[in-house]
Amino acid sequence: MDQNKLHVAIISSPGMGHLVPVYLLANRLATHHHVRITILAVTTQTSPAESQLLGSLADLDHINLIKIPSPDISNLLDPDDTMVTRLAVIMREAKNNIRSAISTMSSRPHALIGDLFSSESLPIANEFHMRKYVYVPCLARFAALTMHVHVFDKEVKGQYVDLVEPLRVPGCVPVRGQDVPDPMLDRNNREYNEYVKMGINFTTLSDGVLVNTWRDLDCTSLDALKYNETLKSVVKVPVYDIGPLTRLADPAGSNDSKVIEWLDMQPVESVIFISFGSGGTPSAEQIAELAWGLELSRQRFVWVIRSPAGSAKDGTFFTSGSDSPNGPPDFLPEGFLNRTGTQGLIVPLWAPQVTILNHKSIGGFLTHCGLNSIYESIRGGVPMIAWPLYAEQRLNASLLTEELQVAIRPAVQPAEEVVGREEIEKMVRSLMEGEDGKRMREKVKLLRESANHALMINGSSYKSMCEFITCCQNNN
Ligand code: UDP
Repeated sequence: MDQNKLHVAIISSPGMGHLVPVYLLANRLATHHHVRITILAVTTQTSPAESQLLGSLADLDHINLIKIPSPDISNLLDPDDTMVTRLAVIMREAKNNIRSAISTMSSRPHALIGDLFSSESLPIANEFHMRKYVYVPCLARFAALTMHVHVFDKEVKGQYVDLVEPLRVPGCVPVRGQDVPDPMLDRNNREYNEYVKMGINFTTLSDGVLVNTWRDLDCTSLDALKYNETLKSVVKVPVYDIGPLTRLADPAGSNDSKVIEWLDMQPVESVIFISFGSGGTPSAEQIAELAWGLELSRQRFVWVIRSPAGSAKDGTFFTSGSDSPNGPPDFLPEGFLNRTGTQGLIVPLWAPQVTILNHKSIGGFLTHCGLNSIYESIRGGVPMIAWPLYAEQRLNASLLTEELQVAIRPAVQPAEEVVGREEIEKMVRSLMEGEDGKRMREKVKLLRESANHALMINGSSYKSMCEFITCCQNNN
């Protein structure tokens, strides 16, 4: 490795949802901006996917990986603490291990980037004369809300979800109480306090915040973060829009030839893809309504199905296209697989999503609105049905439906109420064969162009990344 290059260390908290965005940022910096990268990955290695990704990162020439074992936090948690609280505690307790990993590095990095949960480690950078940044792999509206929530904490009484008026972050699009991210749903929960603290840390402990978005996507909130005087008095550091950083291909060996062969035989833009991300599992009742809705719509589909909570968790419960020898899972309507045998394809557990979304036969995506899924859909030019389930997905859905108009959304919150078959049928038809769907398809294709431009040399995100790099270099 070239010892004179700018060297940046990036801390990743445990879990695929954190390691993947950190890897995408690392890869972008290394391959497009010739930055030397070390990933400091705090890892519990509890998931095979995470262990596999860490294994492949260790083999890369352009990225150096240091694994930091997760500390024992068993005495510091209550049984009902949420994942947000767990991660906050893990990363707080991992600070000393992160410090010793940095202190023993033969070539000291010039800058330290912490992911969402790593902000408490940023003061370590001061000890080693490094610059320090936060990476928020989310929309600008989420970043703005997170950094502003401590102001709401002082000014707003009661639960945010009960508010009649939306929350107004200065200069940003108002956020309805029911669309706030999960940690804001209950102000009495420990995770809320962790979230408030996190937002304060972003602006008080860092020299800047990198956000995985681009100029034309979430421009109102991004402009506010960059230029709104009132918001700038809270967000005191520069904000860099450097996205969309997202996967452009599925990992080698993950392609499911059966799905692709089936898609190859379907007309252009005629198939809706349905998937709820890496962990989303609607209830059994909701899965049944979804099945009815799809069947009634008579539209072609590819549907990634997992067992709803509480049922058998293996993927052998059925075979695609026909009821299995053991019978279909009981959460699908009787005879569904036989009746929809030529209309659609069921994929148990996991599908090569990026490949599917870029297939010419795909014309719509029913998504849980995880940011990766959204970006993959936009980059495939595919309009969406927004079906937010958890985390900050309701906030993401509001951007897609109300501002960008590249998605439609059920009238109720899918995580709280069952969306009925008639509404599903109507949404699927409207997306796949209605005038609304056509308009959304045109808009999402324009958005795809703008994403491509943002990342090109002299594009807005490319330039923003260059500004960030210049700030790191000025520290040398
Ligand atoms: N994914 C996939 N196949 C599946 C389900 C998910 O490849 O069957 C990938 C998807 O392409 C995306 C990631 O898993 O890159 C999910 O990330 P997202 O941010 O959308 O949601 P999360 O799983 O973090 O809630």
